[in-house]
Amino acid sequence: MRVGILGGGQLGRMLALAGYPLGLRPTVLEPGEESSAGQVCPHVAGEFDDYRALYELARGSDVVTFEFENVPVESARWLAERVPVFPPPRALEVSQERLAEKQFFVSLGIPTPPFAAVDSRAEFDAAVASIGLPAVLKTRRFGYDGKGQAVLRTPADCEAAWAKLGGRALILEGFVAFDRELSLLAVRGRDGRIAAYPLIENVHRDGILHRSVAPAGNLGEELNERAAEYASRVLAELDYVGVLTIEWFQDGPRLLANEMAPRVHNSGHWTIDAAVTSQFENHLRAVCGLPLGRCDAVGHAAMYNFIGAVPPVPEVLANPDARLHVYGKSPRAARKVGHVTLRAGTADELADRLPEWDAQFERRPFVKAE
Ligand code: AMP
Repeated sequence: MRVGILGGGQLGRMLALAGYPLGLRPTVLEPGEESSAGQVCPHVAGEFDDYRALYELARGSDVVTFEFENVPVESARWLAERVPVFPPPRALEVSQERLAEKQFFVSLGIPTPPFAAVDSRAEFDAAVASIGLPAVLKTRRFGYDGKGQAVLRTPADCEAAWAKLGGRALILEGFVAFDRELSLLAVRGRDGRIAAYPLIENVHRDGILHRSVAPAGNLGEELNERAAEYASRVLAELDYVGVLTIEWFQDGPRLLANEMAPRVHNSGHWTIDAAVTSQFENHLRAVCGLPLGRCDAVGHAAMYNFIGAVPPVPEVLANPDARLHVYGKSPRAARKVGHVTLRAGTADELADRLPEWDAQFERRPFVKAE
């Protein structure tokens, strides 16, 4: 089966690599000169709204998917008239706009932080008055890795944030003093079957994912079941096919939905080395109409992102537990260029070893690659 993938970054690369053992034939469409995925599979060069390139991808594909959630919805809909497109374009539409996304969660009875739409200075002042400080002001579109947002603690912060972001479509959210951040990856097949990975604990630095631990410790079955149940509401409502990620704030016993990504996700990279079936394989199985694989974790794992540059490879591999993944991207500040996953047999062993791994893979300042 020929699988077209919109987006040729590292997620496309890992999807392509997961496709070959299943006998699938991936092709990516990627606008940039440099394509991480284009190094491992055929590559159509073109913008996501270049209909000649979209046509070429559709013509060479039995099914089309995406690894990038800012693909124009019109492009996905245009493709869907020519070839099956999964996840459904409506999932892109909902997740591209933070206000629509939060309203969607609320409509399904999924708890979120308090929020209000902000389209004018008057609405901003009213939202700050009703939600209170601290709060977070975010652009409704094209925000990722913490970009386009400001934390407001004082009236002076409000003025500064308005000067920076005012005039765009915004959302104000109550600031959640969360215990920790979690994510859940769930997958739905073309036959409607759903499977979910265990909750993952994520630590961000400067708005970028630094470390994931999976399964998240000290949770209990109940929280996992609740997160999976919330995700299944989203999957069913969207008639979704593929992997869906929902990011959560855990605040005591509460789970509050922060955002969703209609795609494979950085916090699921550990599944390549420490789950029965990786998120990439399960996404492909789903969109190709194949049976889903088990989502169970195999032992316990920690995943660290390499941001800016990959450390010297021999240094990483000097740790015999390290499973290294390099994306073939040139080094640049704040860019995800690779990751490493380490596995332990038990939760206690992972807890024992985490300080040593944290020290080895502590996020370093940008350094030039070898
Ligand atoms: P986002 O782009 O919405 O995922 O936000 C990036 C990061 O900012 C999150 O992973 C949180 O660490 C933090 N953040 C976002 N929204 C809130 C909020 N309402 N309360 C507290 N922290 C937040």
